[in-house]
Amino acid sequence: MSAAPPGPDDFRAAGHELVEWVARYMEDVERFPVQSPVAPGWVRAQLPPHAPEQPEPWDAIVADLDRVVLPAVTHWQSPMFFGYFPANASGPSILGDLVSSGLGVQGMLWATGPACTEIETHVLDWLVELLGLPEHFRGHGVIQDSASSANLCAVLAARDRRTATVALDRLRAYTSTQAHSSIEKAIRVAGLRRDQLRTIDVDDTYALRADALRDAVERDVAGGLVPFLAVATAGTTSSLAFDPVDAIADVCDAHDMWLHVDAALAGAAAIAPELRALVNGGIDRVDSWCFDPHKWLLTNFDCDVLYLADPSALVDSLSVVPEYLRNQASESGAVIDYRDWQVPLGRRFRALKLWFVLRRYGAEGLREHIRRDVRAARWLAARVDGDDRFARLAPADLSLVCFAHRDGDDATERLHRRINESGRALVTHTRLGDRYAIRVAVGATSTEQHHVEALWHLVDELA
Ligand code: PLP
Repeated sequence: MSAAPPGPDDFRAAGHELVEWVARYMEDVERFPVQSPVAPGWVRAQLPPHAPEQPEPWDAIVADLDRVVLPAVTHWQSPMFFGYFPANASGPSILGDLVSSGLGVQGMLWATGPACTEIETHVLDWLVELLGLPEHFRGHGVIQDSASSANLCAVLAARDRRTATVALDRLRAYTSTQAHSSIEKAIRVAGLRRDQLRTIDVDDTYALRADALRDAVERDVAGGLVPFLAVATAGTTSSLAFDPVDAIADVCDAHDMWLHVDAALAGAAAIAPELRALVNGGIDRVDSWCFDPHKWLLTNFDCDVLYLADPSALVDSLSVVPEYLRNQASESGAVIDYRDWQVPLGRRFRALKLWFVLRRYGAEGLREHIRRDVRAARWLAARVDGDDRFARLAPADLSLVCFAHRDGDDATERLHRRINESGRALVTHTRLGDRYAIRVAVGATSTEQHHVEALWHLVDELA
């Protein structure tokens, strides 16, 4: 093989082959055991100890995808994947990522890639309309790598709005016991102690109790502390509970607190108008709101969208302007420099994949994806409810069904293990109250009603 560096012709030839490989994977994914059966260390044992000294042919590289990678993939794109929350991949999104990589743009400033910035702002304005979000979010959206980063940005903006006048250690933040772990992580990254985050009790639907929040805030104020932030969740990780955002906003208004809503999975459902009352309640009153198109809106990981009612607090928090990044467009004030809206400096052209997805599916295609999953999840919830062996442990209003075996935790755990070991489906678990619960998260890109029916038959067979 020649030692000439791989150029456009090499890319073209291998690119066609690899696009074909991925397309075949999409067609075949259902045939693989959903959970990879390999033991720890198996993958590394297949690889040579040293990097190649000489260029390798593509044939050898592609052969290793089949030999080493596929057996060790847990197939998130299988229609029988019901674990965690989905991580939707789709053809249009993959191609958007391909073009993003091809352009290789680093969009930290408007000036370093005007299309990267302006398509992002524009597409996120489209989403304001499509998801029924408040008009004042227009021009105020930014793509982050993940909901964890969006949550961190909200914590940083809320913190710095207060630390001009209040010592850091007097600040207190509030969220429910069911909030995602990224909230606690964000608090710690922001330099606050773990105990500066109060975790508030939930009701029997696992939604935050606004009365308990009010009590905790008033107790802290009476003790000379300064509540600065509440984080509500629209669709909790364990059971898709919806915190009462309006009632939480009342508490925040009374104490000048920042209100952030983490709608990581459920935000996507707002594209269906009939689901908005559930998903978007109280949204006009929040300071920031985020959701992950990379979970349930057919956009490949990574892509989170964060909206701010007023982005200036975040920009004040994160803007650092060294001489080498100064430029006329930034100084003019006429452009957005998204590096000030996120923790890292550099950023990929992620808006391309979202743009491709919105255009290629159209709003109707995206609504149908969400509606199909919601219908299938409700169908499954009805089967669980109608079967004496099982108890449903949380409302199933959207796409998640949590249930337990009535014989107790051991029986539920055993069923969970059998389902995954069968290789025919993958589910995950949580704890709700004091019970071990199987979580069935419907929403993989290719899951259809008959796949959910197949899962139910499997549950019936293995219970
Ligand atoms: N918030 C909630 C409610 C989630 O369910 C999750 C993940 O499931 C996250 C945040 C973290 O998402 P990401 O992986 O985008 O950081």
